[in-house]
Amino acid sequence: MINLSSNARQILKARYLRNTDVTETPTDLFERVARHIASVENENKDLWFDRFYKVMRNLEFLPNSPTLMNAGLPNGQLSACFVLPVEDNLNAIFTTLKNAALIHHNGGGTGYNFSKIRPKDDFISSSEGSSAGPVSFMKIYDTATEYVKQAGKRRGANMGILNINHSDIEEFISSKSDFKSLQNFNISVGITNDFMYALENDIDWQLVNPRTNKVSKTLSAKKLWDSIIEQALKTGDPGLIFLDTINQNNPLNKLGEIQSTNPCGEVPLFNYESCNLGSINLKKMVVQNSTNIEIDWKKLERTITTAIRILDNVISCNYFVLSQIQEITLANRKIGLGVMGWAELLIMLEIPYASNKAVELAETVMKFIHEKSYNASQLLAKKRGCFPSWKQSSFAPHMLLRNATCNSIAPTGSISIIADTSYAIEPLYALAYKRTGILENTTQMEINATFVDKMKSLGLWSEQLRSEIIEKGSIQHVKNIPTHLKNLFKTSLEISWKYHLLHQRAFQRYTDNAVSKTINLPNTTTFEEVSEIYKTAWKYKLKGITIYRNGSRNNQILQLCGYN
Ligand code: UDP
Repeated sequence: MINLSSNARQILKARYLRNTDVTETPTDLFERVARHIASVENENKDLWFDRFYKVMRNLEFLPNSPTLMNAGLPNGQLSACFVLPVEDNLNAIFTTLKNAALIHHNGGGTGYNFSKIRPKDDFISSSEGSSAGPVSFMKIYDTATEYVKQAGKRRGANMGILNINHSDIEEFISSKSDFKSLQNFNISVGITNDFMYALENDIDWQLVNPRTNKVSKTLSAKKLWDSIIEQALKTGDPGLIFLDTINQNNPLNKLGEIQSTNPCGEVPLFNYESCNLGSINLKKMVVQNSTNIEIDWKKLERTITTAIRILDNVISCNYFVLSQIQEITLANRKIGLGVMGWAELLIMLEIPYASNKAVELAETVMKFIHEKSYNASQLLAKKRGCFPSWKQSSFAPHMLLRNATCNSIAPTGSISIIADTSYAIEPLYALAYKRTGILENTTQMEINATFVDKMKSLGLWSEQLRSEIIEKGSIQHVKNIPTHLKNLFKTSLEISWKYHLLHQRAFQRYTDNAVSKTINLPNTTTFEEVSEIYKTAWKYKLKGITIYRNGSRNNQILQLCGYN
């Protein structure tokens, strides 16, 4: 029997285990996935099957949900992330909508940059009418997403980007302010360095009609920035995507510019490109010595090497719904190995998230993962050949690689529940919370198990503490808890945004794709603070930034006890 939490069993049963021609158990599921991924090995298939199966069943590494759901099934699409082009004509707009529907139906999420679309009320020569504009087309995409449930298991997710100099950028910025529109979209403003310089120097900024290339409006950069901040404070949207930072770090910049990311921002991709992700459960990468718990670097290295091989194999045994997707994905062979359970690892090592020691360790761990991922990809290149577009990449001629990118920090929204650990690199959201929506129509109270274990081991656990945690969601106000434990168990909203950003920067430094992170903020956060967060994100050379102010939407997945 695999050691799974009750949440993991529920989510697997509701969404992952096959229940038509066969009735799968979790063991069957991991066997199905491992067998399919090992099928592309030329030699020693059984040995590879065994290795792949073990890292998954031990919850040391999990591939992204579509791989767990679809591996081994006919036409099983295994990737989570796609970017599709949006050109300025009806045929192209609706072709992309159809393609997005096919991708969503098979479990993937799609990102698009709508900046090529002419603005609202612009001229259309063929009909002598006026155009709908990018935001209207996004609403059509949104409605379609609503009705194409992903294989009945999850709704499609979308990223919609509009560049900061598009004529309709003001409408775009407030397009989610009614809390009803574009519910299936994350929206981000495509920011350029030029805009940030205009903002720093408090000068005017020009909006341009992409059809005519003529200036449609001039306004102060600060005014535009303030409208972004106001909306982000109110609703959490829009986030920002830093286009120049993305392209300065694009190893395939000879092939063109990247204009979009996937829905949660962790993978910048060319049009039609896809990427498959997987995450190492850091909580499992420890060893108990006689006196303390340490990171097991050998085990971590072994797990990275296996994980990179799994992700590279996934590309080879993947099913692609479009020939364009197949072509560019096979040419660049991008994969994204990331982490989950970072906060729980820190707790096990007794290092508070909000400390310089934690930020330093974040760099050390991600640097290690990055180096070992590249080593593994290099070894694969020697055996299987470099990714076909390698000669045009910045790695040529000296550094052989099998994959144009190796690392992404995905949100791990579902797989961290299966692995029973904290999301990606996020701090614990709360010590007690009601989780709604993730598991079929349930609302349940949960207390973080790592916290309970720690308290029990110190003889501090009691019924009274349990009630206080449920009431407050935190231990900061509980008497008789030593300060070092209060620091260790600070939750997301009790940690200054400065540390949230420092962690994101530390991981981004050694992540060739991007880092998905939400800067969770208390309800009392001010306009000035959000403005500083967004500016700091750019200065830190992050590829994107997303914030969420607690309580600003009424459909939060996790509700904090004591905060509402
Ligand atoms: N994704 C999606 N729909 C969802 C959740 C995720 O299409 O409901 C896609 C999206 O591209 C996201 C990626 O999957 O960026 C990875 O998300 P996450 O790590 O949360 O996925 P998991 O593997 O945990 O399901």
